[in-house]
Amino acid sequence: MDHPPDRAAERTRVDVVDCAKTYPGGAQALQRTTLVVEPGEVLALLGPSGCGKTTLLRVIAGLVDPDAGGRIAFNGDDVTARPIEQRAVGMVFQHYALFPQMTVAANIGYGLRVRGVAPEALRRRVGEVIDLVRLGGLEQRRPAQLSGGQRQRVALARAVAVQPRVLLLDEPLTALDAKLKEALRDELAQLLRQLHITAVHVTHDQNEALAIADRLAVMQAGRIVQVGRGEDLYREPGHPFVAEFLGRVNRLQREAGRGLALGGIELPCPPALGASATLLVRPEDVQVHAGAAPGTGWGQARVLQRTFLGDRVQLRLAVAGQAEAIVSDQPRDCPVAAGDTVAVTIDPRRLMAAALEDAS
Ligand code: ADP
Ligand code: MG
Repeated sequence: MDHPPDRAAERTRVDVVDCAKTYPGGAQALQRTTLVVEPGEVLALLGPSGCGKTTLLRVIAGLVDPDAGGRIAFNGDDVTARPIEQRAVGMVFQHYALFPQMTVAANIGYGLRVRGVAPEALRRRVGEVIDLVRLGGLEQRRPAQLSGGQRQRVALARAVAVQPRVLLLDEPLTALDAKLKEALRDELAQLLRQLHITAVHVTHDQNEALAIADRLAVMQAGRIVQVGRGEDLYREPGHPFVAEFLGRVNRLQREAGRGLALGGIELPCPPALGASATLLVRPEDVQVHAGAAPGTGWGQARVLQRTFLGDRVQLRLAVAGQAEAIVSDQPRDCPVAAGDTVAVTIDPRRLMAAALEDAS
C-alpha cells in the first residue's frame, strides 16, 4: 500500500442532496439542504453556535443519519447507507481526541495500523505526515507533553495519514488562544492547499473561514443562507444575515423614497437598494475628514468616542438624521479626538440593503 503525501488522489466531489435532520425530541437542527463541495475544494460552514454546522458535518461523515429522503454522494457514489468507517473520511475535532497513552507517532499511525498497513509502509507514511505538519523531533512524545497547537497538528496528521477522500474539521482551532490560532490557521490553509484534499471546515469565526476556505456556506437557524467566495460574500452579501455575520456593519435608517440623511446632507442612494428603509454599511466604508468638509457630499458628525485598537482607530459618531451612533474605522494615526466635529461621508456604492425585496 503506497501513500505519497502529495498524491492528488482521485479528488472527491461531495453532494449533499435534500438532507435535513430532526433529532429525537423534535428539534429540526437542519432544514432541507442541498450543497456541492467541488473536488479538492475547501468549503467552510460558517454560522453562530447552534445553527446546525456540526449536524451537517456529521451527516456528511456518516455519524448522523439524515431524515428520510436525504442523500450523500462522494463522486456520484451514494454513501448514505454507509457508516463512517466505510466512507474514507478523516475527522478533526475541537478537542483533539488523541490517545493519551500513545506517542505522537503511534497516534498518527493509528488509522494505518487498524487498516493493516505493513510496518515498513506505515513508518514511511507516518514520517511523511510528520514532516508535512512539522512535528519532526516530537515523534516519541505523548499528547500531555505537547502544546495545544502541536496536539492539533497531531490530530490533523492522524486524520490525513490514511489519505481520506474527504477531510472534515469541526472547529479545529477554537480551543486555541488567539495568537496560536492565527498561526495554525495560516498553516492549516497552506496544508490543505498542499494536500489538494476536499475539505469541509466548520467554524463560527469569520476570519478563520475567510482565511482557510475557497468558498463559504453561511448558515443561520438550520439553513444555508448563501454560498460563495469570501470576498464576494463580504462585498456583495445576498442576504442581510450574511452582511452582519461576515464582518461588522452599521444600520442606517432612511425615510421612504428619500436619500440617506447624514449629518445635514442627503446622500442619493443607488436604485438597486430599492425601498429598503434600513441600509447597512461597513465601518471601513464610513469616511471621516478631520475638521471642515473637504467638498460637497460631506455631512457633519460629532465624535462620541475614539478607541485605539492597535491596527486601527475606531470612532463612534453622532450624526444628525441617524438615531444610532455610526462606527467608522480609521487608520491608527487618525488625529481625531472625542468631542471633535468632523466631516463624514459614505460612497453610496458601499451601502447594502438590510431587507431584500426578493429575499424569503
Ligand atoms: P452548531 O454546530 O452550529 O453549533 P449543532 O449542529 O451542534 O450546531 O446543533 C444544531 C441544533 O441541534 C442545536 O439546537 C442543538 O441543540 C441541536 N442538537 C445537536 N445535536 C443534538 C442531539 N444529538 N440531539 C438533540 N438535539 C441536538
Ligand atoms: Mg458545532
